[in-house]
Amino acid sequence: MPRPSLEVAAIFRDHGAAWRAANAGHVSLGQLKVMSAIERCRTAALGGHVARCRDCAHIRIAYNSCRNRHCPKCQGAAARDWLAARQAELLPVPYYHVVFTLPAAIADIAYPNKAAVYGILFAAAAETLLTIAADPKHLGARIGITAVLHT
Ligand SMILES: [Zn+2]
Repeated sequence: MPRPSLEVAAIFRDHGAAWRAANAGHVSLGQLKVMSAIERCRTAALGGHVARCRDCAHIRIAYNSCRNRHCPKCQGAAARDWLAARQAELLPVPYYHVVFTLPAAIADIAYPNKAAVYGILFAAAAETLLTIAADPKHLGARIGITAVLHT
């Protein structure tokens, strides 16, 4: 698979400092640590090793990875594995893709209260789907749900 021409790490390295300054007070320490890990991933900042071919003396420098679970470079394979595992769970029945969207007016409340607001969103979405699916006028069945937050 060819490498993407634009990487999150490059965007963070180019614009992260300005973004952090503009959003100071609204970004958690955990989020700052993730940004830092992604910015430093596979750079000299994390150290590395030099590999040298014994035949042609070609040298290759390999920098260490951040291993942060949010890093797209480090977790690309993990994400593919997760998707394959979810696909293995699928039953031979019809599936529906349902999207629940927060009104734009909620965004300012959600940003500094992510856990609470997204918890309410997931609970409301699940209750809505379970209630409507259980109604004999609609599906009349108990359903399963896989819910993913897509920001
Ligand atoms: Zn990484």
